[in-house]
Amino acid sequence: MKSGACAAIAMLGGASPLLAADKPGATDALLVIDVQNCFMPGGSLAVKDGDAIVPVINKLAKSFANVVVTQDWHTADHVSFASRHLGKKPFETVKLKYGTQVLWPDHCVQGTEGAALHKDLSIPHSQLVIRKGFHKDTDSYSAFLEADRKTATGLAGYLKARGIRRLKSSDIAG
Ligand SMILES: [Zn+2]
Repeated sequence: MKSGACAAIAMLGGASPLLAADKPGATDALLVIDVQNCFMPGGSLAVKDGDAIVPVINKLAKSFANVVVTQDWHTADHVSFASRHLGKKPFETVKLKYGTQVLWPDHCVQGTEGAALHKDLSIPHSQLVIRKGFHKDTDSYSAFLEADRKTATGLAGYLKARGIRRLKSSDIAG
């Protein structure tokens, strides 16, 4: 689930972060991270008051010409799910080949209602929805790199190809 906002900015080759006072331009993009039902109140991995950010993001997105949306997008047997590890409960950890993995309740399973974007998210001009965490044996917190820190999601290449230099990140997990 959680995102890597700091990592996101670093990946853009040291470009300065977009500050609140800056007016977004043609080479800026808003990254809207994981505004999905599972992370909303009532969801399987709810973030307290997670839905409060939806109107804030909708408003913010209007000031950006470029918007990219991410979705956590797991297989039903994903390695990050406690249900896949005998005797383990959510929020316990296991050692995987890429390091320590926190185990989560099942969440954001591909094609389910829980994985869908929040119904009130309204960014019709967003240009890319990038899905992450779809490799069943690797989690993906960052929008750029999976948890093995090697497998790219493709977002960096997309931004480079589009000439995007600065990103602002909006994340329900804060
Ligand atoms: Zn996840």
